[in-house]
Amino acid sequence: MGRCCAIIDPVCAGHDNFGHLESNARLVNACSGIPRDVARLAFEPALREDAERVHDPGYLSWLEQRCSAIVTPEWLDTDTYITRRSFDAALRAAGAAIAAVERSIEGEHCFALVRPPGHHAEFDRAMGFCLINNVAVAAKKALDSVGKIAIVDWDVHHGNGTQNCFYGTDRVLYCSVHQEHLFPYSGTVDEVGAGDGKGYTINAPLQAGSTIADYQFVFSEIFVPAIERFSPDVMIVSAGQDILFDDPLGRMSIRPQDFELLTRMLTRAAGVPLALVLEGGYSQSHGAAVHHIFAALMSNGKVDVQGMPSGRTQTIVSWLKSEHRLP
Ligand SMILES: [Zn+2]
Repeated sequence: MGRCCAIIDPVCAGHDNFGHLESNARLVNACSGIPRDVARLAFEPALREDAERVHDPGYLSWLEQRCSAIVTPEWLDTDTYITRRSFDAALRAAGAAIAAVERSIEGEHCFALVRPPGHHAEFDRAMGFCLINNVAVAAKKALDSVGKIAIVDWDVHHGNGTQNCFYGTDRVLYCSVHQEHLFPYSGTVDEVGAGDGKGYTINAPLQAGSTIADYQFVFSEIFVPAIERFSPDVMIVSAGQDILFDDPLGRMSIRPQDFELLTRMLTRAAGVPLALVLEGGYSQSHGAAVHHIFAALMSNGKVDVQGMPSGRTQTIVSWLKSEHRLP
C-alpha cells in the first residue's frame, strides 16, 4: 500500500463567483473523491518571495491591491475574475503546491486539491482562471534543494505559463498533452524549449475525442521514456481533469477510471513519489476521477493496453519520437 496524503484548504472558497465554471463548487465535487482514510496535510501559504521566483513583483503588488480594493467580483479578462479574497486564496494554493512537492521529496505521494488553478498564469499577468502559477512556484522553490524536476500536465488546455517559466532550462522537463486548437492555442509539437532548455519541453496536442488509447500511447511512447531518460528527483503532475468525457470545456473522451492508468504509468516512470496539483476539471464525474487517482497512488495494479490510438495520434507520436530522439 502506497503512502499518500491530500491537501485541502477552506481559504480557497474565498475565490468564488457564482455561476462561473471555475468555482468553489467544482472543488467541493473534486474533493468528494478523496478516500476517507487519506490523511490531510497542514501547510502554510506561499511567501511573497516564493511567488516572486516566478512572477513580476509589480504584477503581484498590483494584484494584491486590486483584490483588496473591491467588494464584488471583478474581471481581469473575459475568463478570469478576482474577489476581495482571491490574492489570499492564490497564495494559499501556491503554498499547497509547495507543501505537496516537499512531502513527495520526503517519500509520500501528495495531491493538493486547491484553487485558483495556476498553469496559465504568466510572469506578469493572470490568464485563463489562473492568478499565480502554483506548480511553477513549487518547482522553482524545489530547485533550491534538488537537481531535476519533471512536470507532466494532462489538463485539456496547454500550460503556457508553466512552459514559458522553464523554457530555457535543462533542469525541468515539461511534458504536456492537451486538446489541439483549444485555449490558449499554444503547445504545438515544435515548441521544444530554447537554449539550454532545447529538448526539455515536449508537447503532444491531440485531436478532440481522443480516448485513453491515445493518452496511453503518448505516455508509453513519449512521456515515460523521456522521464526515464531524464531521471527526475521530483515528479509534479499538473492534474487537470477537464479531459473527462463530460467536461463542459474540453472534448476529450477520458473516463474516470482511466486516471488510474495514467497515474500508475507516471509513478512507475518517475520512480519517485508524485506531487499532484489540481488545475482544471469542471464536470460531474470529477470526484470519481479523483478517487481513481488516489486508488492508483495507494495500491499497485496492472497497466493493461487500452486499444489502438488514432492515426492522428500515431502521426504526432512518431514526429515527437524523432524530434526528441526517443527509442
Ligand atoms: Zn484546463
